[in-house]
Amino acid sequence: MQICDSCRFRKNCEVGGFVLNRVDPLTGLLTKKCFYLSVRNLLDTHTAISFELFRINVERLNIINELFGEITGDKLLQEIGSALQQLSIPVGVAGRLYADNFVVFYPAQKQYRLGITEALRQVRNSFSHLCTVQFACGIYHITKRRLPVSCMCDRANLALKRAKGNYLLEYGEYDEEIHSRILHEQSIIGMMDQALQEKQFEVWMQPKYDTATGDRIIGAEALVRWRHPEKGLISPQNFVPVFERNGFILKLDFYVWERTCQLLEEWRKRGLPMLPVSVNISRLDIDYPDLASFLYDLVQKYQLKPEMLQLEITESAYRDNAQQIIVVTRKLQQLGFTILMDDFGSGYSSLNMLKDVPVDILKLDLHFLKSKDQSGRGGNILNSVVRMAKWLNMSVIAEGVETLEESDFLRNIGCHIVQGYYYSKPVPAEEYAKMIAASGTKEDPMPECLNIEDMNDIWNPYVQYSILFNNKVCAVAMVKYSAQNGLSLLRGNDGYFLLSGEVADDNGTSGKLLLPQMLEEDRERLRCMLANFDADHPEESVLLVRCLHAGTLQWISVQAFLILKDTWRSLLYLFLRDITGLREKIKYNQELA
Ligand code: C2E
Ligand code: CA
Ligand code: CA
Repeated sequence: MQICDSCRFRKNCEVGGFVLNRVDPLTGLLTKKCFYLSVRNLLDTHTAISFELFRINVERLNIINELFGEITGDKLLQEIGSALQQLSIPVGVAGRLYADNFVVFYPAQKQYRLGITEALRQVRNSFSHLCTVQFACGIYHITKRRLPVSCMCDRANLALKRAKGNYLLEYGEYDEEIHSRILHEQSIIGMMDQALQEKQFEVWMQPKYDTATGDRIIGAEALVRWRHPEKGLISPQNFVPVFERNGFILKLDFYVWERTCQLLEEWRKRGLPMLPVSVNISRLDIDYPDLASFLYDLVQKYQLKPEMLQLEITESAYRDNAQQIIVVTRKLQQLGFTILMDDFGSGYSSLNMLKDVPVDILKLDLHFLKSKDQSGRGGNILNSVVRMAKWLNMSVIAEGVETLEESDFLRNIGCHIVQGYYYSKPVPAEEYAKMIAASGTKEDPMPECLNIEDMNDIWNPYVQYSILFNNKVCAVAMVKYSAQNGLSLLRGNDGYFLLSGEVADDNGTSGKLLLPQMLEEDRERLRCMLANFDADHPEESVLLVRCLHAGTLQWISVQAFLILKDTWRSLLYLFLRDITGLREKIKYNQELA
């Protein structure tokens, strides 16, 4: 490989009166500035030749440095340098831009491309006894010769990103698609400030529903829309990622959060039900100094409780920035905000991580589970995640619910809070206001509904509890037993409340003692029986007596079945039958006999 004639045999290169370091001492390739000048020189002096720029990045060089030492890392860079210098390209230059970023500029011919990929293959092979070396490569075929060389390198870098992590692709190429994406991004960036000033961004609401209580609205998610004067309504997918890259998302999110608070205040003044609204928090927002105080001041300004503004943080942010998020979210929780982990299931977080992060609600995205589901496994995963969340004392909401079947399935596995097109698409704020006004929703029921304990076990589809829990003929109760807290009722069906004479609350749970007025000695017997339950001994019958008003006795036969048991507690369901009448009949018959 030749280097440009003007500096070929000299250590330094003089350009326009400046003396530049010509060669990178580690690799022997041109330094960035000298590479840029050499490329410009080649373009100006070889106007008939069509060129291309090949960019190379060593994947995970930092890990090679860490595992095998910097000497090995440096050796690798040196080998790349000498391999590129040895390329037989008569009109071309090679340089090291910085760190592990290399560039080669050469006439656009297939043989030269192949020469570069072959040289890289040899470097990789020569290190294979020591470590695995991977390169990500990108090519920009020079279509605009007047473009600054730094931009040419950027374009090759965009092409490189396409191939990064894809070991089947030797290199990515800069093409029309990347080009139009850049133009699109530039046009969006050019318009964003004015759009914010002119209030072109609108906050829409997508309602969230509780299917356990007749599909009533229990809150919403605020989602931004851009109403552009010429382009019409633009979806956030087209601009949020751009703003996340250039930092404008911070300004936009502040605007959306404030607008959401304004709407909540307005609805309160209009006497509409006060239901929480969740807003999206971007990765960049987390780094904003004292985000927690900022949000707290914001809700105070509109005289709202922090619970009214829930915060959705995407799962992938936890992966990138776990420590920082833990600090920020803990503070937010202490101030009274509810934290949702958004897009749970998109594939990044380990379930193990969940126990360490301060999250109140897991937001499952059915999209991710559906797309991976080829054999019904998605359903099993969902079921397990819902169970696990409950055991970790987290609530669950499912989003992206599109069909009745999905909604039924979710209800059966104990996930009652849902959001999705099946129920409602995102709607303009005023339309949402009309929806909540019409739904006559009670105030703030969300936390209560989300805290139903172990509902997933109650609604386990395999055992079809749902049938049991929706009839009056047979009395069924779901109970939890632990040595520490004794017996508590989790849920009873209508038949149970008929039998016991207690009053059920909204969730079918009395929250009180199982069968009040039971004789103490019988309660003790029941406790002993349940304490001895295990996998080999999972069912038992017992006869209990209750002493009702005025000394009347009620005889109840109980059949108990163990559902699951861990070190601390057992979950059981009980079939109960009032046999007082039957006993009297038997006694009467015995007396007759
Ligand atoms: P997200 O936070 O996951 O929001 C849910 C997205 O799923 C919304 O798309 C919603 O319209 C869509 N969706 C809801 N139900 C269904 C369904 O049943 N089927 C299908 N196919 N889609 C459904 P949208 O409004 O286009 O927003 C896309 C993403 O843009 C959001 O995903 C969020 O990441 C981001 N975003 C939206 N508004 C904001 C905002 O104000 N700030 C920030 N930082 N990001 C926002
Ligand atoms: Ca969200
Ligand atoms: Ca989501």
